[in-house]
Amino acid sequence: MKNKDLGFDSRLIHEGHIDDQFGSATVPIYQTSTFRFKSAEHGAACFSGSSDGYIYTRLNNPTVDSLERLAASLENGYRGIACSSGMGAVNTIYGGLLKQGDHMISTDAVYGPSRVVMEKHYSKYGVESSYVDTSNAENILKEIRPQTRLIYIETPANPTMSITDLKAVAEIARQKGLITVADNTFCSPLLQKPIDFGFDIVFHSVTKFMNGHADIVGGVIVSRSREFDQILRPMMINLGCNMDPHQAYMVIRGLKTLSVRMERAQENAIKIARFLEDHPKVAWVKYPGLESHAQYKLARSQMNGPGAMISFEMKGGLDAGKTLMNNVRLSLLAVSLGGVESLIQHPASMTHSKVDKQSREVSGITDGLVRFSVGIENAEDLIADISQALDMV
Ligand SMILES: *Cc1c(COP(=O)(O)O)cnc(C)c1O
Repeated sequence: MKNKDLGFDSRLIHEGHIDDQFGSATVPIYQTSTFRFKSAEHGAACFSGSSDGYIYTRLNNPTVDSLERLAASLENGYRGIACSSGMGAVNTIYGGLLKQGDHMISTDAVYGPSRVVMEKHYSKYGVESSYVDTSNAENILKEIRPQTRLIYIETPANPTMSITDLKAVAEIARQKGLITVADNTFCSPLLQKPIDFGFDIVFHSVTKFMNGHADIVGGVIVSRSREFDQILRPMMINLGCNMDPHQAYMVIRGLKTLSVRMERAQENAIKIARFLEDHPKVAWVKYPGLESHAQYKLARSQMNGPGAMISFEMKGGLDAGKTLMNNVRLSLLAVSLGGVESLIQHPASMTHSKVDKQSREVSGITDGLVRFSVGIENAEDLIADISQALDMV
């Protein structure tokens, strides 16, 4: 049986494996910066590409390569490029695909630093960008200029949980000759495969669901075709944001349980979302698994499950949000997401506190908004914890 015929969960366990001389059951960690050549001719062949031998770990490494093959298989893409962090992946994509005078259209509620690095740094090199609510694909069409080269979306968006129609965006890009990129961090390839909907490039902060244990930072890019891989790989290598072999091993290990972790976290998330929706101190709940989500049908059509991220609005605004944060005991008061432990955070007083209130509200980040990354604890314990913290508000 070829690996490409295997189901997703079997690939999580077996894809990318290295058949070493000792028959190791797991992927060995090749903790080396450089590789010996067998001869001058072999060295020359590695450099010319006629041999696929390893040269130097910033260029490639067997453990990292293993993760890259696994990630490509999970996303149904051509090949993966592992990076030191999710932001390493973002910069590899921006730097590789955009040049002076180019314009990019992005989701307005995109991950903060993905927007900051574009507006503060790439703007110095003459790259322009627009931020629109991509949950309405018409907004993208209206923003396209002769200089537009890239459409960059995040779905579900953070922390508003609004969904962008992947098929509609890929179709717009095809008609206009633009490149499409999706930040798939919130879903992991288990729940959403943007390349299947016609996207060119997908990437993850593997720090989140893919590694899943809150113990490393990393990123991975998967391209649909060799063409994009050949643009992005040299960019990553020359930026020097390669992944370390030990980091890659940790992600390969974390990925083995992606499906079982995600299934359990989703079971918990729907229970918590329903509890919150019925709570008198909560104004609204946004979770793609609730029928009340404005894009419930779209979410069901492009995601294999609603995920484990919930946003909700406290009726009491900023103060209520802070009081809730100060009284949760089981969920950790922390940013980041996608780990086995539940994490809770309040954007208005934490991640987005430096953004002025008006700009926050334009992108849907209201004062009472709370973001909850649901872990795999017992649902009853998580609900009891939030319930007692809500009683303190
Ligand atoms: C965390 C995150 C990133 C950045 O990844 P790092 O690994 O922190 O560099 C990018 N996009 C999303 C959606 C994220 O949650």
